[in-house]
Amino acid sequence: MADTTAAATSSVAKAVAEAQPQETKRSWGDEAGAEPDHAALTSDDKSVSALNLESLAIDETKKKANNFLDDPDDSNIKSVTVGDTMYTSAKTFEELNLSPDLLKGLYVEMKFERPSKIQAHSLPMILTPPYKHLIAQAQNGSGKTTCFILGMLSRVDPKLGAPQALCICPTRELAIQNMEVLKKMGKYTGITSECAIPMDSTNYIPVSQRAPVSAQVVIGTPGTINKWVTAKKLSMSYLKILVFDEADHMLAESGFKDDSLRIMKAINRSNPDCQVLLFSATFDDAVRAFVSKIVRDLFRGDYNQMFVNKEELSLESVKQYKVRCPDELAKIMVIKDRILELANKVGQTIIFVRTRNSASMLHKALTEYGYEVTTIQGALKQEDRDKIVKEFKDGLTQVLVSTDLLARGFDQSLVNLVVNFDLPVKHDLPSEPDCEVYLHRVGRAGRFGRKGAVFNLLCRDRDDMIMAKIEKHFNMEVTQVLSWTSDEDFVAALKKAGLL
Ligand code: ADP
Ligand code: MG
Repeated sequence: MADTTAAATSSVAKAVAEAQPQETKRSWGDEAGAEPDHAALTSDDKSVSALNLESLAIDETKKKANNFLDDPDDSNIKSVTVGDTMYTSAKTFEELNLSPDLLKGLYVEMKFERPSKIQAHSLPMILTPPYKHLIAQAQNGSGKTTCFILGMLSRVDPKLGAPQALCICPTRELAIQNMEVLKKMGKYTGITSECAIPMDSTNYIPVSQRAPVSAQVVIGTPGTINKWVTAKKLSMSYLKILVFDEADHMLAESGFKDDSLRIMKAINRSNPDCQVLLFSATFDDAVRAFVSKIVRDLFRGDYNQMFVNKEELSLESVKQYKVRCPDELAKIMVIKDRILELANKVGQTIIFVRTRNSASMLHKALTEYGYEVTTIQGALKQEDRDKIVKEFKDGLTQVLVSTDLLARGFDQSLVNLVVNFDLPVKHDLPSEPDCEVYLHRVGRAGRFGRKGAVFNLLCRDRDDMIMAKIEKHFNMEVTQVLSWTSDEDFVAALKKAGLL
């Protein structure tokens, strides 16, 4: 196994030292994004009736299929509806009036048996005419993708060969992942689709030379979508439904607000009746107020909302730990000697770092010690990013070091362990945690109610303070692993998480 030579140790120590200066260049997802923290909920949000959904039926069948699986923790979703449309939650997919082709996709391809809670509640709102907009929040891993993919596939007229549904995602990886779900779920529908993401260097053709998009569903990233719209290659004339995945980030100042607004305005010019769906596990108050305002100002018609209090967002099936380490080198030793030694008995692991420098340093250190890890970050070539994600999804690699590029949305059910090598902090205020990014990172484990564990590696008082702020924000306690050098403590932690 790992070869702990003196030479390796000294070169690792050097790499750790070199990685310390802060990197200035960054792209989205490579460092945590700050959320705006001004403004509060508008009075309009409070004037509508709130319906408590705590009494929903739970999906018993999944427990038997996988003993690491609990129910997706979305029992405390509150729904706020407007107007006089009555919605009844769907206990089965049949109740949703989906086409037989879609039902076949759900049962045969996806192997789903019944809707999760967010699906049971949001799908009637999405699919019942008049098609109202929806701002929907639900816990990580609770099945939001299915809500908007079924929404898109149900609204498309198969006889019309033009873009009718558009889904915008923050990263190439998420656009590809959502496209894979769409293709699988819509396999029997014959509906056509295209990914609007930057081309890799092997198949590059200039936008001006490409044919106009005729696919019925388009899923992509905001930069490419805007480029295609500007070049008149992507027409908005027949668009019926617009989806934002990770919507809070898509409309945050530190995220893709400008790009997203541009797309919304382009759609609004030809189609003010287009239905807008916004999904995320996190909407801080400011973003939520802004999102509601944008939908109200730009599009016609009412909007419904579903939301979760921040104290109820943490996944109960994922046990969170903190490990105090004397210095940066000790953090690597914890990963190497404690966590990775146990990780392969458990499942796959994602190790999150804050900067590209940390990613390279940790990758180098772990490989020098003889561990097989792959690393993904925004500076890699598109095709290399795709390959690394595919290998991890195919289970060919077990440990993935990542910047926040994969913090949101990445769905791999075998990931049971998340390690925060660095805690996520706000770009413009590094003494403050980025609580939204923290929650999303934790949510890479525990998909659809599965069991998982998170180790937060802390060194120095600043890390302690940031961790304490995260705990306060979510009103939860993160258990301390007493000694960073004790194998027994880590085994006990994983046992308590239900993983060993
Ligand atoms: P999120 O809410 O974080 O976007 P996803 O949509 O990525 O969650 O779903 C998480 C996982 O749960 C996926 O692997 C998906 O296939 C699975 N899943 C979603 N809905 C169901 C369902 N009704 N039955 C079984 N598994 C489901
Ligand atoms: Mg998602």
